[in-house]
Amino acid sequence: MFIVLLGPPGAGKGTQAQRIAAATQLLHISTGDMFREHVKGGTELGKQANEYMSKGDLVPDALTIQMLLERIGRADAAEGAMFDGFPRNVPQAEALDAALAGRAAKVDHALLISAPDDELLSRLGGRWICRNCGHLYHERNDPPKKAGICDLCTGELYQREDDRPGVVMARLEKQKPPVALIEHYRKADILSEIDGKQSLDAVTAVLLEAIK
Ligand code: ADP
Ligand code: ADP
Ligand code: ZN
Repeated sequence: MFIVLLGPPGAGKGTQAQRIAAATQLLHISTGDMFREHVKGGTELGKQANEYMSKGDLVPDALTIQMLLERIGRADAAEGAMFDGFPRNVPQAEALDAALAGRAAKVDHALLISAPDDELLSRLGGRWICRNCGHLYHERNDPPKKAGICDLCTGELYQREDDRPGVVMARLEKQKPPVALIEHYRKADILSEIDGKQSLDAVTAVLLEAIK
């Protein structure tokens, strides 16, 4: 089964992907996490991607699609995956469709999570991430038991550079899912729209029901 998670920055894609992966064993592929690994590792791709990420822009499709296709070509993605943060536009969606068609597979579900801008802003501003295992927290909505420390692995929590106010505004302006992307999946009759303003547990329950 292949699933795409769509929604603006802060809607809850990453958090829900972590929860769905834990509940279903489905492989979680986050292009944002992949880019951040490259930035951290100082690779050529990381250097290029960071020029865009640091301004709140999307990384160009050529780089993004190549990285994604390489990732889904690996053995662990043979049976399925859940994509978090990909696709962000129609060319990316078409590249994914073509790659899956080449192996007699397709996107089975597109899950669109929405929330109002004021909620997105407050979520991104309070987001903390485990440096070690990547688990997502929120300082008010979903805090760790001990401030700054991951409940799961005792790793150190950090805040993303691009979650600072200036960059967040740019991301909210530039990175909402385009209507044409949503229509792409509506036309394929695989779109589910989820009210992301509900509690974390309520959203997880709706998503699990949608992919059952
Ligand atoms: P995205 O991957 O869509 O950018 P995240 O999953 O990283 O969003 O969530 C952004 C922040 O909002 C995180 O700190 C997360 O803990 C918090 N969050 C996500 N979903 C909810 C929710 N339904 N209610 C309250 N806070 C949430
Ligand atoms: P968020 O959780 O806030 O939605 P992500 O972690 O998914 O953000 O992405 C972080 C950054 O990585 C984005 O601002 C963008 O620059 C880049 N990025 C991630 N996925 C893509 C993609 N599919 N296409 C282009 N750029 C991407
Ligand atoms: Zn951790």
